[in-house]
Amino acid sequence: MPDGSSKKDIKALLPEELTAELAAMGLPGYRAGQIFRWLGRGACSFDEMSDLAKPLREQLARAYAIPCLTMLRRQVSAKDGTEKYLWRLPDGESVETVLMRYRHGNTVCISSQVGCRMGCAFCASTIGGKVRDLTASEMLDEVIRTGLAAGTGIDGVVLMGIGEPLDNFDNVLRFLRLVNRPEGANIGMRHISLSTCGLVEAIDKLADLHLQLTLSVSLHAPDDETRSQLMPVNRVYGVDALYAACERYFKATGRRISFEYAMVRDVNDTPRHADILIRRLRGTGAHVNLIRLNYVSERGLLPSEEQTVRAFVRRLTDGGVTVTVRRRLGSDIDAACGQLRRGEMRKP
Ligand code: SAH
Repeated sequence: MPDGSSKKDIKALLPEELTAELAAMGLPGYRAGQIFRWLGRGACSFDEMSDLAKPLREQLARAYAIPCLTMLRRQVSAKDGTEKYLWRLPDGESVETVLMRYRHGNTVCISSQVGCRMGCAFCASTIGGKVRDLTASEMLDEVIRTGLAAGTGIDGVVLMGIGEPLDNFDNVLRFLRLVNRPEGANIGMRHISLSTCGLVEAIDKLADLHLQLTLSVSLHAPDDETRSQLMPVNRVYGVDALYAACERYFKATGRRISFEYAMVRDVNDTPRHADILIRRLRGTGAHVNLIRLNYVSERGLLPSEEQTVRAFVRRLTDGGVTVTVRRRLGSDIDAACGQLRRGEMRKP
């Protein structure tokens, strides 16, 4: 973790890696399990690890750092209990995490980068570009700290906060392995969703790993002309290449893809767009998740009218495409990506 210290980040190590490192220091393997459990419960110093003798705690502290996020802001939605956190990272940067409470459990939406370089026209996270990738340990800490701060267990994780997770592939993968561990946060792969703007090569790389997570693809438009206008990434990987990658992903993993579609007034919400989407997706088993655009003042784009959304849904359904409209949780606390961090950056 970029905190200026030369010590190794112990929270980024998988239990077996920690076991190997401790063995090299002449320490017994079971210590790794103890330490991993302490870290998973949110310990930020070795002194908290009361079942380790003091000399051992000191030895570990000389070799390892335990970087932790600290809370800058917390907002709780009066409407639906959604909680939004702004965390300070060890190097002074900040990221957001959102806790969503559903009937079937609590899900945290985590950030994967500080900022984003994908440049989507409607998104607040990308306005200042990408500052840096998050480490696996920082992403894990978003989950741990949010659970502790909210006083709840965490049942699911979505990588839909700030950043493009597949643009930070190795750290995200390590994070997935860490958060999945039964001795730690114990989040099953089927309770994890990863959302991408459509980096085709990375989708293929992920497919090869056969993870049982849910892949969401931010489609937002069914044709190259509209999509390139909203998402610069489409100029590199057009919709044909993207659909083909999604098909390969489905074949490799057996997991259906969910397509995100933010409805932008007069840009991607016309009957013509619905019809192209139907031609593309009918019979593929893919699922479309619609959301009215969250208005971001810097971006100038407007959400579609309610009746336009309803008509779009009806047209897709009649055309044989399964579609849901995402509830807007936390709309009273700027829960859309990047908005809290932007607000903080504007402060003097
Ligand atoms: N980079 C990844 C994940 C982060 S964004 C991706 O592109 O999928 C999570 C989701 O929120 C994406 O589908 C993104 O397109 C969408 N999003 C971003 N800004 C939005 C806005 N203003 N209104 C509605 N959805 C938005």
